[in-house]
Amino acid sequence: MSVSAIILAGGRGLRMGGDVPKQYRLMAGLPVLYYSLRAFSVSGVDEIVLVCGAGDEDYCRSEIVEKFHFFRVSAIVAGGSERVESVYNGLTAAGGEYVLIHDGARAFIRNSLIDEIINEVKVHDAVITAVPCSDTIKRVSDDGVILDTPMREELYAVQTPQAFRRDLIMDCYEAYHAAVKGGGSVPAITDDSMLVERYSDHPVRMIRGDRSNIKITTPEDLEYGEFLLRGEQSGITD
Ligand code: C5P
Repeated sequence: MSVSAIILAGGRGLRMGGDVPKQYRLMAGLPVLYYSLRAFSVSGVDEIVLVCGAGDEDYCRSEIVEKFHFFRVSAIVAGGSERVESVYNGLTAAGGEYVLIHDGARAFIRNSLIDEIINEVKVHDAVITAVPCSDTIKRVSDDGVILDTPMREELYAVQTPQAFRRDLIMDCYEAYHAAVKGGGSVPAITDDSMLVERYSDHPVRMIRGDRSNIKITTPEDLEYGEFLLRGEQSGITD
């Protein structure tokens, strides 16, 4: 039962500012992307498909994959203009029976969580990681009026990795692409689980993620990441 990891690094990282996309920025002297590739390289996945921005393939090969000897990377493919299409490009290059989809910008993924989700997906076929919401969440109208307050105990903030049997998520992609082509109402897909929720009747299970598994998005996140790396907060996870 082989397992592929799809590491997404195809975003433009506009919220970070500057010329260098956030996934290549240095954090404690190493590219942000280095950390997630390292975590998956020492995990139980059989291969890693790296999805990068179109035109960045050679840079990623020489400056990241070869430079840091990430030999488990089996393919480097160009992403699309939306995350959902970057994932699809990664899926078409992945050979595993199961796939773990991970935001390359989540540099603090723990090896033990990767191995836990591999074990879970082999049993349940669709598993995501999430943490309980610590904030109260409101639904708000366009003109700034509170519509309602979902019960906080039922709310979770979703992270990656998210893991699926590959043929299950591929079938969902086919249905999604057909819906897009058909011009019907298609929601913005903000995580991979949404496709399975919407285009299959297969249940998606959740396992507990990790509060330190942050997505490095802004310059402040980079600073916080360096702070975490210095070990000043070791032991403070959820
Ligand atoms: O933009 P966002 O923060 O949601 O991106 C999450 C992850 O998806 C990042 O690792 C980013 O590089 C990746 N991504 C991608 N292709 C896109 C947009 C985002 O691979 N078109």
